[in-house]
Amino acid sequence: MGSRFPLRLVQGYRDFLVGRMPTERDRFHELARRGQSPDVMIIGCCDSRVSPEVIFDAHPGELFVVRNIANLVPPFTGDGLCHGVFAALEFAVQVLGVGHIIILGHARCGGIRAFAEHGPPLSPADSIHKWMSMIAPAAEIAGPPGDDYLTRLEQASITKSLENLRTFPYVDAAVKSGALALHGAYFDVSTGQVSVRHVDGYHDIAAEAGESVGA
Ligand SMILES: [Zn+2]
Repeated sequence: MGSRFPLRLVQGYRDFLVGRMPTERDRFHELARRGQSPDVMIIGCCDSRVSPEVIFDAHPGELFVVRNIANLVPPFTGDGLCHGVFAALEFAVQVLGVGHIIILGHARCGGIRAFAEHGPPLSPADSIHKWMSMIAPAAEIAGPPGDDYLTRLEQASITKSLENLRTFPYVDAAVKSGALALHGAYFDVSTGQVSVRHVDGYHDIAAEAGESVGA
């Protein structure tokens, strides 16, 4: 143990300098000159297997990403409470003017499982259970425990976060004006498949033209 920077990251950075950086150099220069203007915000999970930039093969400047345990959006409170998701959402919609917000859920989500199993705290301070208690309303629409319960709960949580997005007045106004579209997406960690939420369920994103139905 020590304060040495992780060697794996040093090696990865060296690969970046000789690999991706040369091909992205013009893009970085342009982004530095005029600032970022991504059209897509993604709200994803902290899970190290679910990196939006990797899954969507995104370039610098394309995705505005906020990640938290289980990709949750708390409902709007309007009480002045400062929340990381709120700040990112405000910046994305009110400053950047993104055209799309995607809630990116995933299979085998540890946060969702922690809520579903009601087991002992995953960490001594138990912040995870407190955070995950936010999905209690999603559990009500996920149906009873049984086959595919975790998948149903993961996808119900996406639905609830999409609903919560609409509780932010500026998000709701942008959606109603047609300037902003909301999407739910689900990543299967084991197969790499991304499916997109429609009113009748989730459809494989690669099998369609990318059209999706928001909340
Ligand atoms: Zn997760």
